[in-house]
Amino acid sequence: MVTEVVKIKDLKKLAPVFGQLSFENHEQIVFCNDKDTGLKAIISIHNTVLGPALGGTRMWNYSTEWHALNDVLRLSRGMTYKSAITGLNLGGGKAVIIGDAKTQKNPELMLRFGEFVHSLGGRYITAADVGMVTGDMDLIRTVTPYVTGISEEKGGAGNPSPITAYGVFMGMKAASKFKFGSDDLEDKVVYVEGIGNVGEALVEHLCNEGAKIYISDIDQDRLEEVRDKYSATIYDGNNLHAEEMDIYSPCALGATINDVTIDQLKAKVIAGAANNQLADEEKHGLLLREKGIVYAPDFLINAGGIISVYAELENYGKQEIIRKTENIFNTTLEILSNAETNEISTHQAALDIAQAKIDIRKREN
Ligand code: NAD
Repeated sequence: MVTEVVKIKDLKKLAPVFGQLSFENHEQIVFCNDKDTGLKAIISIHNTVLGPALGGTRMWNYSTEWHALNDVLRLSRGMTYKSAITGLNLGGGKAVIIGDAKTQKNPELMLRFGEFVHSLGGRYITAADVGMVTGDMDLIRTVTPYVTGISEEKGGAGNPSPITAYGVFMGMKAASKFKFGSDDLEDKVVYVEGIGNVGEALVEHLCNEGAKIYISDIDQDRLEEVRDKYSATIYDGNNLHAEEMDIYSPCALGATINDVTIDQLKAKVIAGAANNQLADEEKHGLLLREKGIVYAPDFLINAGGIISVYAELENYGKQEIIRKTENIFNTTLEILSNAETNEISTHQAALDIAQAKIDIRKREN
């Protein structure tokens, strides 16, 4: 997890905001505080060259405010590249609310947060991320139009997580085709780390395909629920990353590919939903390449959710959502081949294409 891996002294040693480790020319960072509701949130707008900054809100019990700031900076930057590589006219933004979603979330807090989103006049459009659900978006919608991921009953595209999972499944198939010569996942040993909204939907696809699925989560009830619904095995060891497997699918929080795990990883393919899987994009991207592990870049294959919520802004329907999401298979194959030809990491190959799209638009504007 980001919060565990990044050392607090590293976060503090530079200037508070513009000198942060994860600061990369973000356009605007808004600190939201409300005494009455106890709201403490940060909205980060990384880049708006391609359009308004769209990205989910994460509610998480960060150990320090530095970790929250670091997370939102990294996540919002990731959104810029995700939308760019997916071909959407959106910039990158993200928000974090500091607090425990299970015990501290309430309607007043959500509405106050919605008012802060509204105050940005559409430069930032929110959606759900970890700790938030479709019902929260419906509530926020009552105070601002700058919110997506609204329920179908209220005219939105609904919970984006199943679409995200489908896109991850497409990316996983593409990476498998690249590594194993076939996109058939039957009998492949797949470890899914984090079986929340996306992880569970991914397990369903894997189960239908006949993969040998191992699941892990910090929530024991969820583990039992998902195990009972699908033919999955609960991983009961204490170091998942060191297990023999074909595919590792990080679907919890970021930075699980880091200085500690990278030496242990035995997976042949990495394809998951979590944002910011590489603790250090450059270094760990290259190390994966050296180890011959095919890494399907996170921001490329987890774009199903943003494709789904973008439909609410552009008024396209389910069919187009599915078509765009299935295209993740082709884009992933293209990026993996590109990386091999140019002898660069797959993450870098994806970043380069996304950045080129932003640069072209900037020149046109
Ligand atoms: P979620 O909150 O529904 O699920 C996350 C799950 O991870 C929970 O079950 C939690 O208990 C588990 N978890 C937390 N820490 C863990 C750990 N150390 N080990 C194992 N499990 C752990 O979130 P989600 O919507 O399923 O999203 C999962 C990831 O995918 C997040 O990183 C999110 O940012 C990313 N993502 C989600 C979407 C989407 O549409 N929901 C889109 C793009 C990216």
